[in-house]
Amino acid sequence: MRNALIADGTGAPLTAGDVAIANGHITDAAVGRDTVNLDADGELVCAPGFIDVHTHDDAALIRYPGMEFKIAQGCTSVVIGNCGFSGFPAPGIQDTESIAGATWPDLDGYRAAVEQGGFACNAMPLIGHNTIRVVAVGFEDQRAPTAAELATMRDHVHRAMEQGAAGFSTGLIYRPGKWAALGELIALAEAAAEHGGVYATHMRDEGARLLDAVTEALTVGREAGCPVHISHHKASGEPNWGKVADSLDLIDAAGQDVTLDFYPYVASSGPMAEYVTPETVTQDWADRNQFASCPPFPRYQGRNVAEVAAAEGITVSGLVSKVLGAPGGQATISIGFTMSEADLITNVRHARMMIGSDGIPELDGLPHPRLFGTFPRIFAEYVRGEAVISLEEAVRRMTSLAADRFGLAGRGRVADGAHADLVVFDPAAIRDTATFQDPKREPEGVRWVIVNGRLVYDRGQHTGDRPGALLRYAR
Ligand SMILES: [Zn+2]
Repeated sequence: MRNALIADGTGAPLTAGDVAIANGHITDAAVGRDTVNLDADGELVCAPGFIDVHTHDDAALIRYPGMEFKIAQGCTSVVIGNCGFSGFPAPGIQDTESIAGATWPDLDGYRAAVEQGGFACNAMPLIGHNTIRVVAVGFEDQRAPTAAELATMRDHVHRAMEQGAAGFSTGLIYRPGKWAALGELIALAEAAAEHGGVYATHMRDEGARLLDAVTEALTVGREAGCPVHISHHKASGEPNWGKVADSLDLIDAAGQDVTLDFYPYVASSGPMAEYVTPETVTQDWADRNQFASCPPFPRYQGRNVAEVAAAEGITVSGLVSKVLGAPGGQATISIGFTMSEADLITNVRHARMMIGSDGIPELDGLPHPRLFGTFPRIFAEYVRGEAVISLEEAVRRMTSLAADRFGLAGRGRVADGAHADLVVFDPAAIRDTATFQDPKREPEGVRWVIVNGRLVYDRGQHTGDRPGALLRYAR
């Protein structure tokens, strides 16, 4: 690649130069001119491929192997198995549900399944607490595991770590993870820690009790002896706005190895059945939420819950009952507008804050626009728009910081010998175009994306190549 402005991933100032690739790696050696030559015109930025550290792409690697919604953003690697839901060991819930009939006992089995068809970007797995708790204890049991069940769960964590997982994840607002007490979390995080793994957590509360939840996460890390990664850091609900700063202060004061991620939107999204029941739903919740996917009633997708109830002439409780009770209704995904823009900016400023889309790859519905827009939106809103951080710093958060935390060895930097995962973009033009009403739109300003030395995105077109690898954690 000729005439690029190189953002090397470390946060160092841009330098003008060429980047050569040979055999899937970046090289300082001279490369013959008979190979593909890309000319960056002295205006385009060449950076390490972005790493989406918070995804639910476990099933997407099989369902959507082109991974177009990530590749088009410049993402060359994703961390999977977040929020306590991993694609292995099956049978699990959530993501694994959509891989019809598939079963595999462990990460090696999942690896064989995804590698069979190939996929376009790299992936680094975490093993999910909810998934192993379903396997060991069941989905409905609101109790502590027996000693034998806990031992089974620990075995799953050890096995996943031996087979290349980066760590152990929790989703403590979801069933069945929310029934786990602190001791269970420490025991399982400890199993990951023995292999140098990370504890990644969707915390027990992201609203009124955010600080208690942070304290719990820090305690798990301290007692288990492992680094903590806090997922989609936020303060939900207007009375809690501003607590993002308090939470970061608490984390900084702890003196522990803690990193975080966030996505640049004021709305969250997840399985509706995990948030409300016909008994608990309120008018306020209905006012703030819209349907993303609704398999039994696709006509509701993209519409506000309260408005749908009014149009149908039923109460919001009646609507929730109708939707969740219909065949396929439990798979309904909602989007809730609960956060403040000021808290997003507070997140952006923090030096250990990575970017994680948290996108839910359900393309039959109208997913949260974060699935298609997260990474370009950081440049559009917080590098150019609000000028909160420099371009080089944004790239660092998306590359070397993430690669070092999640053990993506030899990635996240433009350096001699590194794997050739690269994105080339126009720093003046890169922007998201996905919206809450029209969310499946690819961003603008990304010119080329290269994964393991192969071109997967060329001026707005996916090349169809699938050079991705399921990576193994390097501590
Ligand atoms: Zn989550």
